[in-house]
This record gives sequence, C-alpha cells and structure tokens, in this order.
Amino acid sequence: MSQPTPKKVLFRDIQRSASQIIYQDIKETNMASQHTYDTHSTRNVIPLRPVIKDYAWGIRGLDSRVARFALESGIIDEVDPDCPYAELWVGTHPSGPTTLRDGSTLEEAVGGQLPFLFKVLSAGKALSIQAHPCKEGAKKLHIENPENYVDDNHKPELAVALTPFEAMCGFRRLEEISILIKKHPEFAACISDEAKLACFLAGPKEENKKEALQKLFHSFMSCPKETSAMQLKLLLKRLQKEQSCDFVHPHEEPPWERKLSRAILRLAQQFPGDSGAMAPFLLNYLLIAPGESFYMAANEPHAYVAGEIIECMACSDNVVRAGLTPKFKDVDNLVSMLTYSMGGPTINAGTPAYGDDRIMRYTPPTGEFEVMVITCNPGEDITLPQLPVPSVFIVIEGSGNTDNDDGQRLVMRPGRCYLLPHDCPPLTLAVNPTKRGPLRIALAHENQHVDAPTLASAADIGTKQWAGEFALPSSTPNTPRGNTMSSPTVNRHLNGDYHVGFKIPPL
Ligand SMILES: [Zn+2]
Repeated sequence: MSQPTPKKVLFRDIQRSASQIIYQDIKETNMASQHTYDTHSTRNVIPLRPVIKDYAWGIRGLDSRVARFALESGIIDEVDPDCPYAELWVGTHPSGPTTLRDGSTLEEAVGGQLPFLFKVLSAGKALSIQAHPCKEGAKKLHIENPENYVDDNHKPELAVALTPFEAMCGFRRLEEISILIKKHPEFAACISDEAKLACFLAGPKEENKKEALQKLFHSFMSCPKETSAMQLKLLLKRLQKEQSCDFVHPHEEPPWERKLSRAILRLAQQFPGDSGAMAPFLLNYLLIAPGESFYMAANEPHAYVAGEIIECMACSDNVVRAGLTPKFKDVDNLVSMLTYSMGGPTINAGTPAYGDDRIMRYTPPTGEFEVMVITCNPGEDITLPQLPVPSVFIVIEGSGNTDNDDGQRLVMRPGRCYLLPHDCPPLTLAVNPTKRGPLRIALAHENQHVDAPTLASAADIGTKQWAGEFALPSSTPNTPRGNTMSSPTVNRHLNGDYHVGFKIPPL
C-alpha cells in the first residue's frame, strides 16, 4: 500500500481529515532549490538544540520568549531573572551553529549549509540603528575590515511580529522630514544650513530628493558630538514639558506626533546622550500587530525598538551601525551605502498558501528564505506539502504532535525546534480535541514562491505609493499598495495608528 515517495514531488493531493479540504493549485509554486543537500539524511523529523544570545537589549528573565523557548528546547536548565535573553538561533551560521541532541550539527544533518538563519528576537530596548550591506558591499567590507564585518554575504531580513512590535524602518518622505525640521529647532540645529536648504528646495524629482536626503543624513550624522548632545538635552526638556502639560488636548494633537515625542523620550532614556534618539525624525516609526510582517532589503536603515518577533534572514551576521549602540559605529560606510529610498516597507499579515488559509506564507523577493506560519486547531490535523528543500520550524504557541515513520511520537510545545529533512515524508501535525487553543508553528525554508512575493521594501514600492505616517496628501490615499501582492486585504498603509482585527488571530 505505501509506495516509496518520489524524489521530487511537486505537489501531493493531501486530504485533510477534519474539513476535507484538498490541496489545489499546483502551479502556485515554483519549487526549486539553489542548493544541493545530501540525500542520506534521515526521513524523520528531528528535534534541534538552538543557540541563544544574551545581547544587552534582550528582555530579562522569564518575560523573554527566548528564555522560555530555550528552557523548553532543553538548552538551559534555569532562567536567570537578571540575564537578558535576546535571540534564539536556528541555523548553520558559524557564530551559533544549531546542534542535534546527539551533539552532531544541523549542517551535518541537512548535508550542507542552510542559506538562511531563523531567529526569535525578544527586544526589551532598542537595537542599534543599522543597515545591512548588499552582496557586493558585504564582500568589500569583509576584505577591508574582517574584524567588524565577519561575513561576506548580504543580509536581507524579514520580521513577523509575535507581540505588538515597534521598529524604525526606512527613511521618511522628504516632505515629512522638512516639516519636522521646521517644527523642531533642536533637530534643525544638528543639520547644516546647506543641507536644510537642499531639503526644502528639492522639488518633486525623485533623484533630487534622494540627493537632498543623503546630504541631510550625512550632515546630521557628522554633527559635532557637543552640539548634538546639547541640542538633544534641549529637545528632551521641551518634549517632556509638552508631554506633561495639558495645554494641548490629546484630541487636537495628531497621534503620530505624540508617538514621535514618546519614542524620542524613550530612546534617550535608554541611550543617554546618544543623538541616535533623534532617529524617529528621519526614519518611519512602525507599530505592527502580531501576525504582521515587513521586509528589510539591503542598504535600508532600520532599528528595532521593542517587542518580540520571528526573524528570518540570509545566512549572515553583517551589521553596519550608526547609533543607539556602544559598539563600533561606521558612519562613513553607512552614509555611502544607503539607497535613500523614502517611505516604508509593505506591512503584510501573510497570504494563504497551498489553498489552505491555515498556512500563511511570508515571502520576500529574495531566494534564500521564506516563512510559513501554520495554525492547527483543536481536533484538526494538517499535512504540509513535501518540499525539495530542508525546513526548520519553531513551535510558537499551543501543543500538538506529529508521528515519525519509525513510530516515534514527537510532542510539540512552545519553544521546541525541529528539522524537517528534504526527503522526509510530508509533515502532519495533529491537535487533540481537548486542547483549548491552536498549535502554531513558524517554519522557514528556501523560498519556494520567489515569483510571488508578499513583501516588498521601500525601494521596491517607491515613494509615490507611500502615504507615510503623516496625513500628507498622497496620490493614492488609503488604498492598498499597488505592487505585485496577490492578497490586497492584508496589505495596508500606515497612518500612525495601531491596527488590529486582521483575518488571522493574534499569535
Ligand atoms: Zn537588521
């Protein structure tokens, strides 16, 4: 009855026992692998031992998902309430290679390097303002400065929120920055008159705007420390006064302005004296809901501020830092490498994959990776299509189980991490009907939908379709962005408010 599984099954019609949905639309995917993997790997789902990082910005103790996940996956015995638990890594990167329970490496188990690195991040305070070089830039930096740039690979990255998540991503529109310069004299004092003038006189042409923005950013970043520190002090004093005063009725003040002021005050508290606290004047300030995601392409400035996410990136650890960090800052390289695209990234709450809305895919326009979030409700089971590439997954919520071919039952609990080898039979997850909530896993593999990305960076979208956080006039106000997205209901513009109520329930 059971026939051997063909080597490269493009798709299988798999019946779902609970609701009898049959997978359809074989042509939806363009399944392929850019890498070769050893075919001797086991045909079982294999538990993994991830690696954790205790960077200073991590959430401390048991409040951190990274800590709880590390405990559940058996890599720590107890959680230190004073220790920051910042990142949990699943991948083959040499700075934190994942292992199997028997001590062998994930790299040995998949028969090669995974082209991506899969992480859980718990950010208690802001990460540095940073950008990641493109492939060419990474090679150059690595040759010139191997100590600070350990990899010669690019690092596009994708974030899916597990909690409400705050981040600064990409430059604001020049029109927005001009308004902020006029409104905040302390910020204006950190920028040369020439750069301000270029900003005000840039006109409508995209190239002129980019040039003006580069001038402005360079001028701000090279402002003498004494000046910026003094202006920051003055700014904080004024913002504090405005925030504590009742003379502006909250209903009269646009929410984005209040949010901007609060963000600056909070960043300044976290990094005293660091003019990086003024970054919200220059960068889009996003607040995304659980299940929502964005993609950061190479050479886009960003800084994660607070919250917990699943993150997937090309296998690299290259960071060019510019502020909000005691670490090495490389302003010259940062200023010269950025694209100066304006506007923010697409915000996307996932697109159903394989005709099943319990499988949401988050697909960037890069070949190395994509992320699936799979939800299995109590009393149901779900079978994933077999792929020609290895996948890794992390249980992010609930519990359930899967049975291996050899009869071994794996019990899934939040934090447990697994490898699904490329020649493993299709993965079936099942949840006992007595459970109160769904089982949810986040799974990453090489991108199988690279022709149908659901996410785009600011550079891909272009400024014209970005309404920005401000209520500035836009050619297409409040309409979903017209890029190649296939599911218009899940893309949205930002207007500074926190959105909830999307089709998928909060993670
Ligand atoms: Zn980054």
